Amino acid sequence: MHIARRFFLTRTAALISAAALPLAPLRGWAVTTMTAGDLRIDSVSDGHIEFPPDFVFSTIPEAERADLLSSLNIDAKAVVHSPLNITLLRQGDRVVLFDVGSGPDFVPTAGRLVDALSALEVLPEDVTDVIFTHGHPDHLWGVLDDFDEPLFPNAVLKMGQVEFDYWTDPTTIDTIGEERQSFAAGAMRRLTALGDLMERFDDGAEVLPGIRAVMTPGHTPGHMSFEIGAPDQGVFVTGDFVTMLVGFVRPDLGTATDHDPALAAQTRQTMLARLADEGWTVLGYHLPDGGIGRVRREGDAFSFESEA
Ligand SMILES: [Zn+2]
Repeated sequence: MHIARRFFLTRTAALISAAALPLAPLRGWAVTTMTAGDLRIDSVSDGHIEFPPDFVFSTIPEAERADLLSSLNIDAKAVVHSPLNITLLRQGDRVVLFDVGSGPDFVPTAGRLVDALSALEVLPEDVTDVIFTHGHPDHLWGVLDDFDEPLFPNAVLKMGQVEFDYWTDPTTIDTIGEERQSFAAGAMRRLTALGDLMERFDDGAEVLPGIRAVMTPGHTPGHMSFEIGAPDQGVFVTGDFVTMLVGFVRPDLGTATDHDPALAAQTRQTMLARLADEGWTVLGYHLPDGGIGRVRREGDAFSFESEA
């Protein structure tokens, strides 16, 4: 497997007429590309989300917080920039996205996927398949365009059955908790608009040839991760079962963004052990430097070794 990180400069084309294009600001895109045989995988950025540190680190016991964060070179008082790394897989005629980012309606620092794809000369109509890890806004909301039509008009869309059922259940908006009611409303609106266009699959399914679904619940009820190929010739798309470096050092702690923190912690411990022992290269949606790296065992805990 060959891994390279490159930097592109493009002009932001969205909503700007051709005549105005030379005046549009240049934007830089860092893209990490992995190749193995005829398989090409790019980590494409949808932007980032900013979180207050008190929210993100709230689940770390106060007595341990300062030491733990300083051991990871994290400033405990600084706004946390959580990257949004979308996996783009190209093999033969297939162009596959794992999640689609948030589109324009979530936070102003995200929703950049289409521009990022254009830096790689991939257009929305080129995408043949979109596979979702889960229904949170930063993964799902970019699925529709400004007119509520599918943004990737030629793509087959797929989501895990348990996850689809959760976000299309009319009682979810009442049970999810006040601070996440907008997540429920936003997912319901999009999944309703898509109707039968969203195909469903179960744990263990081969969603496409060589791509297997692995149920990793806790962050959301039906969260899915994906094995692409084999450990030495492929990549494991984690989604959000681990979202920050703290999760490697203390996988037993729930995180502030987990739906079921205890179940998420159990999934995280099991999966990190498996990925370390099997030697997978992983692509993590919210992990640093494009999210590509390896999981290493560190005694009872783990570390993330970035490959960028
Ligand atoms: Zn996420």
